[in-house]
Amino acid sequence: MPYSPPVHSIKQSEQSRLQGQKEYNRTKRENQSFYSSSQWTKASKQYRKANPLCVMCNGKGITTPAQCVDHIKPIKYGGDPFSHDNLRSLCNMHHAQVTVEQNEKYNK
Ligand SMILES: [Zn+2]
Repeated sequence: MPYSPPVHSIKQSEQSRLQGQKEYNRTKRENQSFYSSSQWTKASKQYRKANPLCVMCNGKGITTPAQCVDHIKPIKYGGDPFSHDNLRSLCNMHHAQVTVEQNEKYNK
């Protein structure tokens, strides 16, 4: 890790902004109004309450509290913003990882 931001003091959107992905940053700005909307804040909180563990850590037999709710198919690529089929709880490490993978996958 080139740097370790103090996770506790950084909001989820800020955390994502710092991941150093130009394309992702652009996407985030475009979606900023969505991610700061009370509708999403409420929906993501509810989802995380029902799914409190990182699904990717869980798949490896590791129990890690989820720190964010990820869209499996990004909204800008037509993913449903509120369908639970398109959501998954992730820790910050896996969220950063899948964000990079998604950008590579969808920018081909
Ligand atoms: Zn994880």
